[in-house]
Amino acid sequence: MPLVQHPHCINGTSRKDAAMRTDPMYPTELTEEESGLGYQLALVGNPRRVFSGNSSLMPVVLYSVGPLSCIFKTRDSDGNILYSHRQHGDFGKSDRAEWNPVLVPVPSPADAIRIAKEGLDAQLAARQGLGIDPAMPALDLQCPACHYPFSVRKDFLGIGEVVVCTKCSRAHSAKDCAS
Ligand SMILES: [Zn+2]
Repeated sequence: MPLVQHPHCINGTSRKDAAMRTDPMYPTELTEEESGLGYQLALVGNPRRVFSGNSSLMPVVLYSVGPLSCIFKTRDSDGNILYSHRQHGDFGKSDRAEWNPVLVPVPSPADAIRIAKEGLDAQLAARQGLGIDPAMPALDLQCPACHYPFSVRKDFLGIGEVVVCTKCSRAHSAKDCAS
């Protein structure tokens, strides 16, 4: 599946690198099981630009549990696929806010959803002093209409979702990108 569907109205155009590379730690294959459970391929912020080259966004398979709460499909160094419930925020110190793991990842995509929805992992993490102070992510984008960089506060961008800067948002609508 191409991540970029229209050359002039690129969904979530990342600064520096529109043709994003995938990262081995974040496999982008969406299985039928994952899709059936509600997982999707989406674009999230690329913390400190360490993943997938230098782009400001990176593609991941995720399940949206709720605001600031997602399950990420990950691959560990042994090649095992694990599903990691994460919340966007910091650990209450001077850490930079990012998608921090709530607790240890699990191998089943369905279990990950069940555990995250029960909220027991977050409660346990908080009791262990691992609670995360929530903070809304800021995605650094390049406006597909005027090409100026701008920032939008959003958990993630769906594939095909078009976001333009506030100046262009009146003059430019998603239907302009339909063809
Ligand atoms: Zn613009």
